[in-house]
Amino acid sequence: MPINLKYKCETVMDMKIKDKPQNPPLGGGGFKHVSYLWDDAIAASMAGDEVALLVYRSNLLGADLRLTNYGGGNTSCKAMAKDPLTGKEMEVMWVKGSGGDLGTMKRSGLAALYVERLRSLKNIYCGIQHEDEMAGLFNHCIFVPIDIGMASKAPSIDTPLHGFLPFKHIDHLHPDAAIAIAAAKDGKRITQELFNGTVGWVDWQRPGFDLGLKLKRCVDENPAIRGIMLGSHGLFTWGDTAYESYVNTLEVIERCAQFLEDNYGKKRPVFGGQKIQALRKEERLQKAALIAPVLRGFCSNCDIARNPPLGGKGAIGHFTDDERVLEFINSNDLCKLAPMGTSCPDHFLRTKISPLVLNLTPEDDVSITTAIKEKLQPLFEAYRKMYADYFNTCKHPDSPAMRDPNPVVILYPGVGMFTFAKDKQTARVAAEFYINAINVMRGAEAVSEYTSLPRQEAFNIEYWLLEEAKLQRMPEPKPLSGRIAFVTGSAGGIGKAIAKKFAEEGACVVLNDINRERLDSTVQEFEKTFGKDIVASALLDVSNEASIEKAFAETALSFGGVDIVINNAGISISKPIAEHSIEDWDKLYDILVKGQFLVSKKGVELMRKQGFGGDIVNVVSKNSIVAGPNNAGYGSAKAAQAHLTRLLAAELGADKIRVNTVNPDAVISDSNIWSGGWAEGRAKAYGITVEELPAYYANRTLLNETILPEDIANACFAFVGGLLNKSTGNTLNVDGGVAAAFLR
Ligand SMILES: [Zn+2]
Repeated sequence: MPINLKYKCETVMDMKIKDKPQNPPLGGGGFKHVSYLWDDAIAASMAGDEVALLVYRSNLLGADLRLTNYGGGNTSCKAMAKDPLTGKEMEVMWVKGSGGDLGTMKRSGLAALYVERLRSLKNIYCGIQHEDEMAGLFNHCIFVPIDIGMASKAPSIDTPLHGFLPFKHIDHLHPDAAIAIAAAKDGKRITQELFNGTVGWVDWQRPGFDLGLKLKRCVDENPAIRGIMLGSHGLFTWGDTAYESYVNTLEVIERCAQFLEDNYGKKRPVFGGQKIQALRKEERLQKAALIAPVLRGFCSNCDIARNPPLGGKGAIGHFTDDERVLEFINSNDLCKLAPMGTSCPDHFLRTKISPLVLNLTPEDDVSITTAIKEKLQPLFEAYRKMYADYFNTCKHPDSPAMRDPNPVVILYPGVGMFTFAKDKQTARVAAEFYINAINVMRGAEAVSEYTSLPRQEAFNIEYWLLEEAKLQRMPEPKPLSGRIAFVTGSAGGIGKAIAKKFAEEGACVVLNDINRERLDSTVQEFEKTFGKDIVASALLDVSNEASIEKAFAETALSFGGVDIVINNAGISISKPIAEHSIEDWDKLYDILVKGQFLVSKKGVELMRKQGFGGDIVNVVSKNSIVAGPNNAGYGSAKAAQAHLTRLLAAELGADKIRVNTVNPDAVISDSNIWSGGWAEGRAKAYGITVEELPAYYANRTLLNETILPEDIANACFAFVGGLLNKSTGNTLNVDGGVAAAFLR
């Protein structure tokens, strides 16, 4: 029998107004640096449901990146709920669980814990050496509201930070404006003065049970405060209701931001003033596209000379020339601030302790790969050594093994910022976090002096066993994770099926087509299915070198380089020799042969810059082997494509670039080949209707099978998925079995 567990909150009347801020509030409409998004009507519809109001407030806070970074911060509320076993009303805390982002958080993203049980844990707490053990005990405090039909999310390590504070609604955020003050040398004094003592201060300490007790002590000693600044970390603010907490949070952050704004450029120019001039936008992008695959090669750490890349995973890149980045990387203070590293733990967990600043000027020629690699090699080696030294100096006997020592953030003065990570989302978020860090340095330097976290503290967070456990729980990477696939003619038919298969297997895909409309609709479809991060696109005419150049530049800017090139774009013209015009001939050879040649050539250029191999798969045709009437242009062009596979396989083996052919036959689909009367023509030739074609073709095969685009996609995946890494110059027929097409 269902038990009614509807939790009940104290009404506003029950709550005593306490700890009222001494500073007059700014009021709902007066915000300049933060977005006031509260809608009374929406909130009124949730009246009495404190958890709904918590979710609502959290979403509003998470919607404004000036209030907190992506995935950063957490919120909570405490309300009364009926215990399912005793039927008694108990105080329960709902708090954002481990992982997730406030902006999109739902009820299912919350952990629920009995407040009394959580607080009683301090009776068995044996001191800071044992605080990690306390995290395991949170599970014994979990409240399960079974009528809502969902289990509590796993409590995060920030749970005690909320649990020990006496307030009904609490926001813990990482606003750049507040961290700028929290990471300033005089942060404590500034906080004291800025808020006339109504915002407390707790020195930097790694989040956990002990920090929870310190926050409580701060409130016990200063009962009138409206919030607490956490040194080098972030902000705690609260209120008796969801709304009070929301407005209090906004007001405190607004005041921090206004204070920074009043001080920018006052003491000295921002970041000590501009040192170098940025290149013009298009030159920046051009340069970034040229150098990105080289950087990707260094960051992927699978140089074929040192470490055979078979099955090796590449890093996925992201590039931004955001103006906040340019202001920082072109400034006089870059060389002073960049090596100091970031402050807020959220920042450096994503960005590593410090970025790598390239020893290049915007004017340097980066088009000659060997020269640029020679120049960058020692720089990357020095970074890896610095990271290993940091690891070896700071490690504890039980620390996990050293992780990838390559930089995540790479700064190219005058050009922009590259980030590299295991997947696109992680790389993009790392870039966002480094922009947060730039904002923090900018603010801290304007009002005082920026201080970063001591290296040992940074290490203790980065190699924290609880963080390591989180990493261990991550799902296994998919076969094509860390790989970038460029599939020509992928807005429909076989190309689209290949791109879809690759995306499902974890690859980043670059969709392209000659037709803008088809391309746009396929891009939309892919973004909806796979999310925006893993999809890029470029309009492409495979017979035009400039168009190919542009498409690969966009690929390099989107993901850092390319690992898999699928030459799939094609057309078909079937005519007797007397009717076959030279225009038909040229068109076939331009798209099929020259197209495959040019796209491969450019793809190989990028793969060689990366230096860890790659795959080219040419989608050719049974007609490359089998001769039939009325097919002189198409059939011979297909044969040229097939032999080009073998020629490039022979040439590129030393680069670990594999080149293989997939031969489809009679794939009925929405591809270009079947438009323009080809299907009607074939049907007429066989004396059947278009609808009867699939069965007719199937009947011709040994296996009596209809060949679908997905069958061709599977064959391409077989070549690039890892199991055939020692195969090149090969041909795989996917035609249901056509004896005439057997290779001999
Ligand atoms: Zn935090």
